[in-house]
Amino acid sequence: MRLTVLGCAGSFPGPESACSAYLVEADGFRLLLDFGSGSLSALQRYAGLKAVDAIVLSHLHCDHMMDACTYVVVRRYAPDGPYPPLPVYAPSGAPERLSAAYSAEEGPLDDVYTFYGLQPGSFPIGPFTVTVDRVNHPVETYGVRLEHDGRVLAYSGDTAVCDALLRLAQGADLFLCEASYLDGVDNPPDLHLTGREAGEVATKAGVGRLLLTHLVTAWGSEVETLENAMSTFQGPVEIARPGARYEV
Ligand SMILES: [Zn+2]
Ligand SMILES: [Zn+2]
Repeated sequence: MRLTVLGCAGSFPGPESACSAYLVEADGFRLLLDFGSGSLSALQRYAGLKAVDAIVLSHLHCDHMMDACTYVVVRRYAPDGPYPPLPVYAPSGAPERLSAAYSAEEGPLDDVYTFYGLQPGSFPIGPFTVTVDRVNHPVETYGVRLEHDGRVLAYSGDTAVCDALLRLAQGADLFLCEASYLDGVDNPPDLHLTGREAGEVATKAGVGRLLLTHLVTAWGSEVETLENAMSTFQGPVEIARPGARYEV
């Protein structure tokens, strides 16, 4: 499978990147993991306006789902549209949240999206076997494990350290893991990971490669985050960049 980072900025768009959105392709099927603010722009730059066959939203914070609202216009009003409803796998309440954010007066988005509620477990999406589990974040949030052809990509979503994250990442070839916080400062509990913690999870899970994401550029330090992750994980580590592609 192939991963393209569309957006990787944590919490709000950064000067160089949209918020979280990751396109994963296999056998011609295109699965979008998260659709955060600004990432519709990156979808056009790195893939194409229609280059999505299904969407998984890890949770309903704006930096992970807001452009699923913007995308309604594309699917509903394109000159060669409307396009058929797109499957969206998301936490409970997604249909209401997205339609309210799109417009208070225009009703449901059923013509644009077919919603499926996420619950912990495994299920197929296109050629992928998808496993999701609840992770440690203040709202209903899922980490995601994608398997295809014996290869594994794990995505943390937003989370603090938790057992579910370790299970999802177990033996992953590529572990796309958030590292929002700096180490050595007094971070709020049960929200996010530091670089050191991301590295610790990667080591315990025995992953092949660690890709750090969701850094909050304006408040953090890429250098420190990378160094801290490398202090606890001996394998290859790098920081996600918009447009970067990985064969998994
Ligand atoms: Zn986030
Ligand atoms: Zn969040």
